[in-house]
Amino acid sequence: MSLPGIQDLDVAGRRVLLRLDLNVPLNKGTITDSTRIEAALPTITALREAGARLVICSHLGRPKGQRVPTLSMVSVAARLAELLEAEICFAHDTVGDDVQYLSRELGEGGILVLENLRFNSGEKRNDPDFANKLRALGDVYVNDAFGAMHRAHASIVGVAEQFEEKAAGPLVDKEVQALDKLLTGPDRPFIAILGGAKVSDKIDVIDALISRVDALLIGGAMAYTFLAARGVSVGKSLVENDRIELAEKLLARCKQRRVSLFLPEDHVVATSPKGESTISSTIEEEMMGLDIGPETVRSYSEIIGRGSTVFWNGPMGMFEVDAFAGGTRGIAEAVAAAEGYTVVGGGDSAAAINRFDLADRISHISTGGGASLEFVQGKKLPGIAALQGA
Ligand code: ADP
Ligand code: MG
Repeated sequence: MSLPGIQDLDVAGRRVLLRLDLNVPLNKGTITDSTRIEAALPTITALREAGARLVICSHLGRPKGQRVPTLSMVSVAARLAELLEAEICFAHDTVGDDVQYLSRELGEGGILVLENLRFNSGEKRNDPDFANKLRALGDVYVNDAFGAMHRAHASIVGVAEQFEEKAAGPLVDKEVQALDKLLTGPDRPFIAILGGAKVSDKIDVIDALISRVDALLIGGAMAYTFLAARGVSVGKSLVENDRIELAEKLLARCKQRRVSLFLPEDHVVATSPKGESTISSTIEEEMMGLDIGPETVRSYSEIIGRGSTVFWNGPMGMFEVDAFAGGTRGIAEAVAAAEGYTVVGGGDSAAAINRFDLADRISHISTGGGASLEFVQGKKLPGIAALQGA
């Protein structure tokens, strides 16, 4: 998939409206993890070195179209200034005459950070009027916010459609190239591992993957809905009763397409997440499955090792609790050890990889949870379509 890149743009002396994903986790207005800000630094530096005047915008949290002081981008701007060791101008508004004035005052390499896009209700509605006002803040447009590419919001779609000169930033380009390899002629066998809390969150992904992969390994809480569909007793495990029928259909579709679907054969069970844990191949009435067991880790790992392409999304158990982290760790290690092309997507799965210190042994860790899952389904992301359109 080819996208226009920043090297294709003439940015010298011009205002670049740069959409970034600076949606960092906050605790009472204080940034608790600046990974996303750090990840954007090379993009910012490359544009500054090319002589751009930068107008940076992002959303932050869920202010629901209102001004929420604890969700102000001012803390992000301050952190950015610190990391860049540069002076940054902060606009107390997202759009408007004053902001436009500030954008025109910027010198080459200068940076203006806009207030939270989502303080304006027009952002999520992809309101044309809001998009017009954003348009007025730049001469060219760069989108490097992969995590927001699946959202048809004003700063992602509406405004992009209005620019003639536009490009994907390096982070978006890297994600798109890496994920596209899963879609276009992946080396086989192609193995997907899916876990996480709910079948309902991931139905579309499971469905799309069934027509692409050779084997599907299921873990996490969603495994129990599948096991229930097979008539296996799952005790008090997290089951979505209204999705059992759907799980039956998915199982049938795997059979029909000759995709091997694997379900856990043993479990780490307890009466509650706080209870004493034991390993068992069956789940008694009063127990719940909170992680895949060691036998499952062993057999899944063997299959993963044979994969030429491996995609993993969703933890294998309630990995936030140490007693139920073993399955996720085991699978993370198997993916890291696999010699094939390996991609991990999903917020919690990526967090698990980082926690187990395996990041440098994975071919690609996708930073965009929802966006990467939609991409892997073969959906056209609105933000990407807007960059490609004339
Ligand atoms: P990702 O963010 O990687 O897409 P999800 O958000 O779908 O992953 O799922 C992660 C959540 O699933 C975690 O909070 C984890 O505790 C939960 N989970 C996984 N397995 C189980 C289980 N067996 N029982 C209860 N919760 C589980
Ligand atoms: Mg999650």
